[in-house]
Amino acid sequence: MSISRRAFVVSSAASAALASISTQAYSAGSGEIDVIVIGAGLSGLETALTLEENGLKVLILEGRKRVGGRVFTLFDLPGHPEVGGNSIANAYGRCIAAASKHKVEIVNIAPRILGKPLAQELFIDGEHIIPKDWESHAKNPFTPEMKRLLPWAWSGEMIKKHMPFRDLENWYDAKYFKHDISMHEFLASKGATDAMIHLGFNTNLSYGTHSYDVSFLQMAFTEYWQAVNRSEKSKLLVGVFKDGNQNLPIAMANNIKGDILQDKCVTAIDVRDESAKVTCNDGKTYRAKAVVCSMPFSTLRHVAINPLPEAMQLKAIKTLGYIPITQFHIVPKKPFWEADGLSPSMWTNGPLGTVLAQRSGKSDVEITSLTVWCRGLNGLFIDRFKSEEAKKLIISEFEKLRPAAKGLINIARMHSWNADPFAAGDWAIFQPGQVSELRASIAKPHKRLFFCGEHTAVGSRGMEGAFESGERVSLEVLGSI
Ligand SMILES: Cc1cc2nc3c(=O)[nH]c(=O)nc-3n(C[C@H](O)[C@H](O)[C@H](O)COP(=O)(O)OP(=O)(O)OC[C@H]3O[C@@H](n4cnc5c(N)ncnc54)[C@H](O)[C@@H]3O)c2cc1C
Repeated sequence: MSISRRAFVVSSAASAALASISTQAYSAGSGEIDVIVIGAGLSGLETALTLEENGLKVLILEGRKRVGGRVFTLFDLPGHPEVGGNSIANAYGRCIAAASKHKVEIVNIAPRILGKPLAQELFIDGEHIIPKDWESHAKNPFTPEMKRLLPWAWSGEMIKKHMPFRDLENWYDAKYFKHDISMHEFLASKGATDAMIHLGFNTNLSYGTHSYDVSFLQMAFTEYWQAVNRSEKSKLLVGVFKDGNQNLPIAMANNIKGDILQDKCVTAIDVRDESAKVTCNDGKTYRAKAVVCSMPFSTLRHVAINPLPEAMQLKAIKTLGYIPITQFHIVPKKPFWEADGLSPSMWTNGPLGTVLAQRSGKSDVEITSLTVWCRGLNGLFIDRFKSEEAKKLIISEFEKLRPAAKGLINIARMHSWNADPFAAGDWAIFQPGQVSELRASIAKPHKRLFFCGEHTAVGSRGMEGAFESGERVSLEVLGSI
């Protein structure tokens, strides 16, 4: 993607808007700083590093007591399972470069996954269905030519069949706005019934909460982004950072020269004056020439911004969608799958959602833990329970489907990204109509306030999107100060 060309265009617009910024530095209490970066996730860290490399003095304010944001490794569990960002792929050029720069090794687990694939057992309404029976099974709602597809493959196939563009650069161009409709409207227009949509899209979905609150245009872009990542079949990369993905943000943070203040929950950003002022919930304020905000919009919507951003940007901050995901990390007391002969990985249409076996041991086949993913409406459902009750529910659902697991399920950790105050959701999604109406306003500089974060990326997603956004915003800030 030609990020530099686009970034420089944005940068000159920002320079014009901020021509009046004074060159005077402002006191941060512990010395004079040029830029406050809010958030020590990948995008905030990348921005801070780039600004420092260009001679600016940076202060990072992070709400959590750790760095990494949505890259979060459980270092204390066997195999170091990931709660957040799982893996990178071939088109993650910036991530790969960052790993090399910060001396974090990338391990390609593609041979492990592809060489010894693990089946995903299908359970519908509590019934175990083996793949060869699915096509003719009474519970299969798909059209005759699609019946061969397992439920998790159906919506991707529908999108691929009707892909509106072949271009990662311009998917958000006005000529595609006619596709900025709900997934439901798109699928129904291709003859899908509610039953097909419910099983094939709403169940264990990857974006949004259901087919009505996700844009087809956004889904087409993500499907296309994934296809680009998988296109180099011969040298496929499913990359993880050695011993835990959080090692990358930790290494980046170690290379930051300025302060990273943790446990600093930002509550207000004031950009009315000559200097920008950021207030935290401990009552402390910090000043600088500019502020870069990497907070997800799901959390920024609870911060007082003065003056308010322009209407469309404010609307984006208030309404951009996020997928709810709650995870349970299980370290089984015994390999119950050896007793019942099935794979521990499962796809269910019940509260258990999906179960993914983690294979991060010394051998390719050793299963180190299991992760239960409750997504979308199922994630919201699970979040209504107190955590101990939610864990009991997951264990009882597990034991119902897999009697061999009785007494062997130990939930070592639970994490609701939706209930996490510094995420309030998982990754950003455009709701129907939001690509056309809001996308162009999301990352516009607002006086001395600049925006980065995966939600502002346009040519990539996830961890790569975080880096893409850090690269763009750094150019904007450097063009303005
Ligand atoms: C379960 C899960 C699986 C994923 N899988 C993948 C994957 O396989 N591949 C992939 O590429 N991506 C994946 N992602 C997405 C990827 O992890 C994120 O896109 C990326 O890490 C986002 O980086 P960021 O810097 O934009 O945001 P964040 O990492 O969220 O950084 C923002 C920072 O702002 C801080 N903050 C928020 N509010 C405040 C406040 N009020 N005051 C101060 N600080 C605040 C947060 O604590 C956080 O550190 C996954 C994410 C999750 C959660």
